Amino acid sequence: MTFSVSVVIPCHNEEDNIEILYSRLTEVLSAYPRHELLFVDDGSTDHTLQKITRLAENDNHIHYLSLSRNFGHQHALKAGLDHASGDCVISLDADLQHPPALIPLLIDRWQEGYEVVNTLRGAQKSLPLFKRITSALFYKSINRLSSVEINAGMADFRLLDRKVVDALKQFNENYLFLRGLIPWLGFRQTSVAFEPAERNAGTTKYHFTRMLRLGLDGVTSFSSKPLYLSIAVGVVIAAVAFLYGLYAVYVHFFTDNALPGWTSITASVLFIGGLQLIMLGITGIYLGKLFIENKRRPNYIISRKNF
Ligand code: UDP
Ligand code: MG
Repeated sequence: MTFSVSVVIPCHNEEDNIEILYSRLTEVLSAYPRHELLFVDDGSTDHTLQKITRLAENDNHIHYLSLSRNFGHQHALKAGLDHASGDCVISLDADLQHPPALIPLLIDRWQEGYEVVNTLRGAQKSLPLFKRITSALFYKSINRLSSVEINAGMADFRLLDRKVVDALKQFNENYLFLRGLIPWLGFRQTSVAFEPAERNAGTTKYHFTRMLRLGLDGVTSFSSKPLYLSIAVGVVIAAVAFLYGLYAVYVHFFTDNALPGWTSITASVLFIGGLQLIMLGITGIYLGKLFIENKRRPNYIISRKNF
């Protein structure tokens, strides 16, 4: 066996998962002698980094990067991909929701010639209902609104060929959404299904607001359709307002019930005002992204590493 395997693991406050993850991964990877485990500590405030450095002292398969602060899952993942050395690079979560036992299957598919092996969450019984609903909604809307097709239930658990990792290195977007970027890249892609396990220890780092952020970023980084959407909505509202205006003129000239129209004026002013704010907000998101991207800041800063 001549190829080498990298496993990239973004970790943010995962102190209770590191050791068990390590032992599970080592078990699976013993079949692939040339491997590295690349832990990316994403600004953890607990003992995650200490646990990793302690393991690294006794096992030279372990490499780690520690980011200078919390940069977020996607950027931690990007940092890991940028520094992984393997002929194929597998990324998975630290909380054991992505079963290490699936790794040999991913590698088999890669050896069959696929350059990207994605994983799809199967029947998500073990995930909380709320997460299942928001995730379904998210993928529905992103596929409606953007031109790349993203499979519902696609996880950040995948294998990438060296070629694909090198292609990804060229991307320096601040609003990184790998689940959208990877289908966009092309290459020979396939996917395998898996059953997500319960989170082993600790709590999820994706709360509602964070998921909403990821969703908005996903849509606005891949599509300008929402901008057209605001024009369409504006046109519809303007048409309705015009018809209502005709009706008001009719009431004024041909009936006796032309009352001082306080209610209708207030209602329409508020409605139009609200609508304008939404449209401004959408435009603002894009403008804000331009502003940030334009600075060309690095996506992450490394404070420490052992290789
Ligand atoms: N993560 C990270 N930085 C963050 C948030 C999360 O590196 O700011 C890591 C986290 O340690 C885990 C993975 O990203 O390995 C997925 O996070 P989580 O399990 O909380 O998300 P969920 O599975 O609930 O979607
Ligand atoms: Mg998780």
